[in-house]
Amino acid sequence: EQTTVLITGCSSGIGLGLAARLAADSARRFKVFATMRDLAKSEQLRERLGGGCPETLELLQLDVTDPRSLAAAAQRVQGQRLDVLVCNAGVGLMGPLETCSEQAMRTVFEVNLFGAIRTIQAFLPAMKRRRAGRIVVTGSVGGLQGVPFNSVYCASKFAVEGLCESLAIVLRPFNIHVTLVECGPVNTGFLQNLQRADPEGSELQGLDRDTRRLYRRYLRHCHGLFRDAAQEVEEVLQVFLEAISTPCPPLRCATTQLFAPLARLKLASPDGSDYVRAMHDFVFGPGDDGGDQP
Ligand code: NAD
Repeated sequence: EQTTVLITGCSSGIGLGLAARLAADSARRFKVFATMRDLAKSEQLRERLGGGCPETLELLQLDVTDPRSLAAAAQRVQGQRLDVLVCNAGVGLMGPLETCSEQAMRTVFEVNLFGAIRTIQAFLPAMKRRRAGRIVVTGSVGGLQGVPFNSVYCASKFAVEGLCESLAIVLRPFNIHVTLVECGPVNTGFLQNLQRADPEGSELQGLDRDTRRLYRRYLRHCHGLFRDAAQEVEEVLQVFLEAISTPCPPLRCATTQLFAPLARLKLASPDGSDYVRAMHDFVFGPGDDGGDQP
């Protein structure tokens, strides 16, 4: 029997890749409900699957911030049991905290946190009744450790960690597995798609010099990290496939070990000061305390 999988955020990146990969499975093990905010952006997914829409794929409109579109999608899927829900839709926000607009902050939480909550709420009752199911969530290193100039994004992804960890405990007796796939930098449009303060733009004009300088330095670090260490989507999909297929998936699966040493620091020194120092040095270089340097 086919495993049914619903994925949010399938117009690009990881969601697109996962939908294509599962729908193209040679043994036709999956029936994929690929959802996206705007179905006009389904072209790339169709192309990936040879131009058509195979029987293993169904496209659905779903904006995770719109309860009506969520209800309509859930209605559409109802009747066919849903085995796996993948909460993947997400947006980033980068910049000094003082420059983050109310609107931008709300969007990040609406999509990353409330979007995931709403989506889980829509499909959880049926999974509980059947006493079976999986909830896979695209997590982030930014949900496990603070990343400079990503404070609102980190806050939203930390919240997702709490959500999933709490749910996993209650859902255990229901035989519903919750798994966070913790991604480091992945080569997608994420960096281009996120809302970001322009280091030369007017938003930063009122900001102190040191913060502007640190932010420019962070952007260089970030681009270097994506250039040198970003994983390809295919590599990350392997971890998703495992979370979907393995009999008893853990709460967290990391796609990379790149940040494991920093994560260990957090455990080794619970007061957090070692982590803050190490992350500061990692991003801004050792010994820089914010003063001007050539
Ligand atoms: P992406 O920007 O290509 O994909 C994000 C997808 O979410 C897009 O298709 C976008 O249209 C969709 N989306 C945004 N708002 C939505 C809404 N309201 N309703 C439905 N869909 C919406 O980037 P990606 O890298 O594929 O991101 C996927 C997930 O991976 C996100 O949750 C992101 O936080 C996470 N992640 C990405 C990276 C990375 O470096 N790329 C690292 C860690 C975590």
